[in-house]
Amino acid sequence: MDTPQKRYAQRNPEKVKKWQREWRESHKEERAIYLKKYKKVNREKLKEKEHEYHKKYIARKKLDPIWVEKRREYRRKYRKENTEIVRMWRKSNKKRGISCKLRFEIFKRDNFTCFYCGRKAPAVVLQVDHKIPKSKGGKTAKENLITSCFECNIGKSDNLLN
Ligand SMILES: [Zn+2]
Repeated sequence: MDTPQKRYAQRNPEKVKKWQREWRESHKEERAIYLKKYKKVNREKLKEKEHEYHKKYIARKKLDPIWVEKRREYRRKYRKENTEIVRMWRKSNKKRGISCKLRFEIFKRDNFTCFYCGRKAPAVVLQVDHKIPKSKGGKTAKENLITSCFECNIGKSDNLLN
């Protein structure tokens, strides 16, 4: 539908963009709360979207090396210019991982022994590993976590166990 507002926006895209930016700036807290709620309610939908986007990205990556290079350049530039934001993201990503307590519980349950090769700490560096990888929908829960040494963990990476 063509409303007067839409027409105005089409004629003055820069102005509208500026307003939107200002609005977002001044409603940061409300937006954060709303986004959190939205993500919670639409978790499945968002996951699907992300998956879809990833598939598209992989397809384009194969066909368009120039685009990949451009994108890489852009990301590099972004990281340089927004070090604070990037640091915050990294921190929040870390938080979502396995807690120290859970890690210790897994080690204890598995007798501080690598599930794959049977070597023990302190001869090897132990890590907690997802049986079904997170990328394939595996959960960070006790049933899906096992003790693995550093080397076995790297060797396995994202392959599913049979
Ligand atoms: Zn091992």
